[in-house]
Amino acid sequence: MSENILNTEEAKKSLNFVEIAVENDLKEGKNNNRIQTRFPPEPNGYLHIGHAKAICIDFGIAQKYNGVCNLRFDDTNPVKEDVEYVDSIQEDIQWLGYNWANIYYASDYFDKLWDFAVQLIKEGKAYIDEQSAEEIAKQKGTPTQPGTNSPYRERPIEENLDLFTKMNEGDLEEGSMVLRAKIDMASSNMHFRDPIIYRIIKHPHHRTGNKWKAYPMYDFAHGQCDYFEGVTHSLCTLEFVVHRPLYDWFIDQLATDEYRPHQYEFNRLNLTYTVMSKRKLLQLVKENLVAGWDDPRMPTICGFRRRGYTPESIHNFIDRIGYTKYDGINDIGLLEYAVREDLNKRVTRVSAVLDPVKLIITNYPEGKTETMKAQNNPEDENSGEHDIVFSHELYIERDDFMEDAPKKYFRLTPGNEVRLKNAYIVKCTGCKKDEAGNVVEVYAEYDAQTKSGMPDSGRKVKGTIHWVSTEGCFDAEVRLYDRLFIVENPSEDERDFKELLNSDSLRVLTGCKMESYLKEAQAGDKFQFQRTGYFCVDKDSGSDKMVFNRTVSLKDSWAKAKDK
Ligand code: ATP
Ligand code: MG
Repeated sequence: MSENILNTEEAKKSLNFVEIAVENDLKEGKNNNRIQTRFPPEPNGYLHIGHAKAICIDFGIAQKYNGVCNLRFDDTNPVKEDVEYVDSIQEDIQWLGYNWANIYYASDYFDKLWDFAVQLIKEGKAYIDEQSAEEIAKQKGTPTQPGTNSPYRERPIEENLDLFTKMNEGDLEEGSMVLRAKIDMASSNMHFRDPIIYRIIKHPHHRTGNKWKAYPMYDFAHGQCDYFEGVTHSLCTLEFVVHRPLYDWFIDQLATDEYRPHQYEFNRLNLTYTVMSKRKLLQLVKENLVAGWDDPRMPTICGFRRRGYTPESIHNFIDRIGYTKYDGINDIGLLEYAVREDLNKRVTRVSAVLDPVKLIITNYPEGKTETMKAQNNPEDENSGEHDIVFSHELYIERDDFMEDAPKKYFRLTPGNEVRLKNAYIVKCTGCKKDEAGNVVEVYAEYDAQTKSGMPDSGRKVKGTIHWVSTEGCFDAEVRLYDRLFIVENPSEDERDFKELLNSDSLRVLTGCKMESYLKEAQAGDKFQFQRTGYFCVDKDSGSDKMVFNRTVSLKDSWAKAKDK
């Protein structure tokens, strides 16, 4: 496969910069042409769509170049981590269609990392600092001003070794001392100013229990884990550009031969009208501002899954936005476009009336029913058809009738004709209202010669509306979702992100009328409700009640509303 890619000019153009780097390495025969990546989540929350972008390139590169991609849990902070997250992360990666070669944990390497820290101490390249975090921060200096050496910087090696052991014994308080690499307090790269590499955390770890009290910092674990595993291309987001020299420095201290993992950074995925930080998402969950990590309004992978998104739609979206070296924010409309496009090709069209009013076909015999055919998907000629029932009494959408309609209203209004989708042309004859003036029934007469599919049914009417028969239809709950936030970029707003939540992001409709075909639908099944949008069956559905989530409306109503 890689041969092909190298040979066609067309394919070359569409390579992203990571693929170009990989192909250059392959041309040079680097690492004996071995390609190895990893996806390194911290198990401190559920994955969001930003992680999907990282997953697609980590696993995608390995897949495309016959390499290996491992899943590595970056579990270096026991306070925030949990097995619930470990499990959900695996489920989400598999749902996106990927499989790891191996599962590793940073905690698998705690012994090796400890030994490496001891090596650095013995080489005079690390020391125990007993100052507080504040004091250490104060001495850091600024990018234009060198830092100040810690008074503990020249501590004898033996003492450092002894204190490092003590850091892990459990008698010392958290924050009482740290291990720092001894590099350069005047470096122009702030990360080189004696970075902290070990700290004390006295919280049991979800895998290693109480074995460790001293835990490595991210910068001291990540690159080394890459090295221990044999990663060749370590892909991460742009905020790690400034960490790369330190990543390389540690590996230079550790390496015994030519092999080096190399870090490459790409732009984060940021989406409009949402937040993409696990810390903030956790807050929404903990404070019950949403109904859990998989609330269909959440930008989590499980949220999108429950909302009715397909893995294909997420892949298409990520392919379209691509991988670059500059940060930006992507329009959520593009993701919605991707799911609409995918569902359009694959899901069955059904009738559901969300805001029902009765339509009585006065010249159609009461008690008579007729079974008609509805094409499952006009976009797919092999999709077949299913039965629908026509009868004297139907439900239509309340806003498909108007007593006094403006000129261009092509739906039901007295004297006007419309086609009932997959059935007959009917002519509206009036309505009945209650004392308050609300329409309670609409009346129409049908023309028996106009049944859909009949040779002489070619009469033109301007409007087609959907309907369900009162015979066999059933009631369901429909949940309509909107943007979770009212501003485009909540993270850049001066106000706290929780003040920016859209109070209208969930509307629950009850008593919606569903055609009988939907009775058999199972949680996760997806449909197009004619003229309304794409919907899927929610997991809250049971034998007594069905619940549908709106994945996305048929058209982009948001863009239109904004323009007004
Ligand atoms: P968050 O900032 O949401 O807490 P994180 O970076 O701390 O995320 P990790 O679990 O450390 O989350 O991330 C695992 C991988 O996913 C990392 O390689 C990280 O760079 C990548 N990643 C995280 N967020 C995004 C994003 N928005 N876009 C692309 N990749 C991301
Ligand atoms: Mg992180």
